Amino acid sequence: MKTIGILGNLIEIEAKQLIGTDYCACFNDYVISLQKVNACPLVLPVVNDKKLIDQQLEKVDGLIIAGGSDIDPSLYNEEPKYGLGRVRNDVDEYYITVILKAIEKGVPIIGICKGLQAINVALGGSLIQDIKNDKYLQHDQIRQARFKSHYINIEKDNFLSYLGERVMVNSLHHQAIDKLADSLKIAASSDDGIIEAFYNEEKKIYGVQFHPEMMHDDEVFLKIFEHFLELC
Ligand code: MN
Repeated sequence: MKTIGILGNLIEIEAKQLIGTDYCACFNDYVISLQKVNACPLVLPVVNDKKLIDQQLEKVDGLIIAGGSDIDPSLYNEEPKYGLGRVRNDVDEYYITVILKAIEKGVPIIGICKGLQAINVALGGSLIQDIKNDKYLQHDQIRQARFKSHYINIEKDNFLSYLGERVMVNSLHHQAIDKLADSLKIAASSDDGIIEAFYNEEKKIYGVQFHPEMMHDDEVFLKIFEHFLELC
């Protein structure tokens, strides 16, 4: 059975006595989805020692670069703009280091939501800091995450093509890809031009802006993880 690492997050606790204390956490839907496709999930905590990251990577056959809060815009040479949410430099630094090391070692990666954005930034791309305005569709849906909310248009011959040309997905993001990194190709986009998925087949890099793990009751979306496992 393959072991798939899930990048953990640091969550700031609001309770008064615990301010300044972080919770090391990951959304359990990643864990549920990996179990459903017969993989062993392994949550990896944010660490700051690069040797430890090497050791984490030795334990896994592939990695989910998970969702989370906003990415520090200084990582793509921008100043913060209105609409930027909370950033955590320690988490971002960990994400970027893991992504670059995984690519160097040939460990397959799939980025989900912030994970897709982090891969794009790690490879030299940039982000729109906030797309919550009427130029764009509503990408920050109000309904629960298991419901689908907007369509994506899927390009030919990529890891999502089995879904057909147009399919509805959920959407829980307020940031999005601006400049796509040169080494990545668009796999899907929404009608307003937001990049909703990318890939680099040769380097085994995949990314989706939507959350297949939160639609794990729909077998069609679990196939994204099944396909990923085959490459691990
Ligand atoms: Mn979206």
